[in-house]
Amino acid sequence: MYCQWYEKDMGDFDGLTLKNLLENANIGVVIHKWDTSVIYANPAALRFMRLTHEQFINRDAYDPQWRFIDEANRPLINDQYPVSQVKRFRSPIHNLVLGVIDSTRDKPSWFMVNAYPELAEKDENSFIVVTFNDITANKDIFSFQSIVDNAQDIIIVTEADELTAPFGPRIIYVNDAFEKLTGYTREEAIGETPRILQGKDTDKDELKRISLGLQNKQNVSANILNYTKTGHPYWLGLNIFPLKNKHGDVTHFAAIERDVTNEIFNAEQLETHNKNLKSLKSNLEDLVRRRTRELHDANKELYRFAYQDVLTKIPNRRFFLEQAEQQISRAKRGGQILLVAMLDIDNFKHINDSYGHEVGDNVLVKLAESFAIFFRKEDIYGRFGGEEFVFCLLLQDNKQSADICERLRKNIAELEFHSSPTKCFSITVSIGASVSAVCAETTLDAELNEADAALYKAKRQGRNQVVSVSKPNP
Ligand code: GH3
Ligand code: MG
Ligand code: MG
Repeated sequence: MYCQWYEKDMGDFDGLTLKNLLENANIGVVIHKWDTSVIYANPAALRFMRLTHEQFINRDAYDPQWRFIDEANRPLINDQYPVSQVKRFRSPIHNLVLGVIDSTRDKPSWFMVNAYPELAEKDENSFIVVTFNDITANKDIFSFQSIVDNAQDIIIVTEADELTAPFGPRIIYVNDAFEKLTGYTREEAIGETPRILQGKDTDKDELKRISLGLQNKQNVSANILNYTKTGHPYWLGLNIFPLKNKHGDVTHFAAIERDVTNEIFNAEQLETHNKNLKSLKSNLEDLVRRRTRELHDANKELYRFAYQDVLTKIPNRRFFLEQAEQQISRAKRGGQILLVAMLDIDNFKHINDSYGHEVGDNVLVKLAESFAIFFRKEDIYGRFGGEEFVFCLLLQDNKQSADICERLRKNIAELEFHSSPTKCFSITVSIGASVSAVCAETTLDAELNEADAALYKAKRQGRNQVVSVSKPNP
């Protein structure tokens, strides 16, 4: 019943409708006779092949006006032509991609070809019908799929509807690089969630941050520790971004990811390096500080050595001379009285000889200590050498000088020294002093010579006394 109705119905359409269909279809239709000569080519076929009706009709399939190539650009031999195959096997061919080279273009045109035999009892009454589409435009551009498949970065696509464990986000695509790095095959990964890659040391806070980004349908970038199928950890740097359908709804997330283990390792190394350098620097700074302090102390010590008498710790000859020179040049403006005196222990050799050198040393130390009490802050004194001391004082008047020297002599005579824990002794000193009013001609050298001469006189006169030389006012 159905068959009859169908054939009757087609019959009604036969002729006009079928021809219209062929003339208006945007698919090339070429009908060959069994000997392969073309008996019909619709307008789309002529257009696709860039041939006129005359150039096409009655030509056989192997006409040199066109040459076929396969997808690898290899020329087809006649037997491989679609028409030849249909004729040989008496069966259709489907979706064969063919390039056609003709003289009008240097690049091939590409067609998706289908063909089938319309068999009759006799071969000469049979036909071969070829239909084809021009797919040159698609063939010309590179395939985005192959970029994604072959990218060296990992590419994962997940669905966006279910984001929470354990079902979402479901992986629907991974590329070759994913398989290579993770050890999971496509088949194993698809349908799973990216959680299969996470492990005990994957930062949970970072995962939460990523998850929040996905919920908000935002771009997310992160570095997280992942694990291969065999449990080997690696650092993954990932950029996730939402994919929208044509209505603007986020349907999927794509992630481009790469193994950044080396970068992270290098960054960590660099950080440790920097830390080490910093601590090295601070150690060095400490060392420099310590050394500077030591140098400063050493300088101070050196200064002390240079200016202080080692035994008595009072100014040495050099320091005394420096200080006294300064004091005299300052005094030249004030017209004061200058007292320069030399003091020598009487018969000191005898003390050394009787009690020993150490006791002699103690005498020198104690005597020097008594100077610190006796003299004023502004007075200048020092050890001149051996058991000889010297002082330089500025006074208001002449009379003071004899008094000071005498008081000093007596003071010293009253000091007690120990020759043993139970035995004491005392000493006497002789003092030679030069007293003068400071004037422009005053020199320390001259004053010292005067004082020395006076001391000599004191010794000669029997020691334990002061000899003072006063110069008249100029
Ligand atoms: P005079 O009354 O003439 O000054 O006699 P004197 O014995 O004090 O003089 P002299 O120049 O003959 O002897 C000085 C002695 O002082 C000789 C030396 O060994 C001693 N002397 C010098 N410097 C030191 C010192 O630093 N320590 C000790 N213990 N003795 C010293
Ligand atoms: Mg002496
Ligand atoms: Mg002496």
